Amino acid sequence: MKVTEHIKASTGSTLFSLEIIPPKKGDSIDSLFAHIDPLMEFKPPFIDVTYHREEFVYKNRENGLLEKKTIRKRPGTVGICAAIKNRYNVDPVPHIICGGFTKEETENALIDLNFLGIDNVLVLRGDSIAEEKTFRPEPDGNAYAIDLVDQVMGMNEAKYLDEELQNAVPTSFCIGVAGYPEKHFEAPNLKSDLKYLKQKVDRGAEYIVTQMFFENSKYFEFADKCREAGINVPIIPGLKPITTKSHMTALPSIFHIDIPDDLYNEIEKCKDNKAVKEVGIEWGIQQSRELMEKGVPVLHYYSMGKSDSVYRIAKALF
Ligand SMILES: Cc1cc2nc3c(=O)[nH]c(=O)nc-3n(C[C@H](O)[C@H](O)[C@H](O)COP(=O)(O)OP(=O)(O)OC[C@H]3O[C@@H](n4cnc5c(N)ncnc54)[C@H](O)[C@@H]3O)c2cc1C
Repeated sequence: MKVTEHIKASTGSTLFSLEIIPPKKGDSIDSLFAHIDPLMEFKPPFIDVTYHREEFVYKNRENGLLEKKTIRKRPGTVGICAAIKNRYNVDPVPHIICGGFTKEETENALIDLNFLGIDNVLVLRGDSIAEEKTFRPEPDGNAYAIDLVDQVMGMNEAKYLDEELQNAVPTSFCIGVAGYPEKHFEAPNLKSDLKYLKQKVDRGAEYIVTQMFFENSKYFEFADKCREAGINVPIIPGLKPITTKSHMTALPSIFHIDIPDDLYNEIEKCKDNKAVKEVGIEWGIQQSRELMEKGVPVLHYYSMGKSDSVYRIAKALF
């Protein structure tokens, strides 16, 4: 089923969902199952699986020179999606990105997903790799998420890259896209970011999932501005429980978001990460409760492969 169909079928009650990341190359999928299993108690109708592009690393060679290698640390997105469908009978939502893919490779990946009976994709641009200051698409790749939305929508209308294909079968992907309550870090301002978000929706995206935020007012203001801009699709809030003191600096630096004073002060008082985790859970419960009371369609948790805090937050609410 499509994410939008799940939302419709919930008739106004808030759904629980989560995002997982594939295990590191060489690790077993069992660690992922051990993380998802307990969360099935809260009946997630869909589970997002992130996509991780290749990275360059330098390895020391015997002759003392450095060798540049391309590695993919977390492969397996498509396989994990199939495993989720098979084990839990839950709809997987694979993330697909522009970075590192030609349009041809993207088309082939979408054909695989379609053959697996996967109905949803979250369409993203992806970030630049560590070596590049700014995002660079592949030659003959998609440059922005909007372009990737166009490609998926094209396939939904049976338009493949090879225009001479006869009787091509249309896909039927439900497309989600990312939104940023605190603005995407490259956007000159929120207005410009919203202009492109609206384009993603106008071109076929049926719902938005937000970047994490720790102050609900940021989500509510963002949702209001989206509505004013004519964006009328569901806006699913993304939430992440804080679990370590290092999150206070790591999350703003990686995700370009603010940590509110109250949360920061509470975390500062903690003697160790056990105490930090408790603060993160309590904050997550309060944040989720208010969002739920305001009628958000789904609470979507960035679990990052650890179920403990998400489990306790969900237990208090679902
Ligand atoms: C919910 C969520 C899930 C994510 N999952 C993943 C994942 O699995 N894998 C991964 O690698 N990354 C993931 N990311 C990170 C994401 O790839 C980055 O935030 C990336 O920098 C932007 O992606 P986007 O799809 O929002 O890009 P876009 O919508 O393309 O926007 C990127 C920037 O360009 C601007 N812009 C957009 N269109 C145009 C245009 N036509 N002309 C000029 N400017 C334009 C926007 O305002 C914005 O500043 C995720 C992010 C979120 C919020």
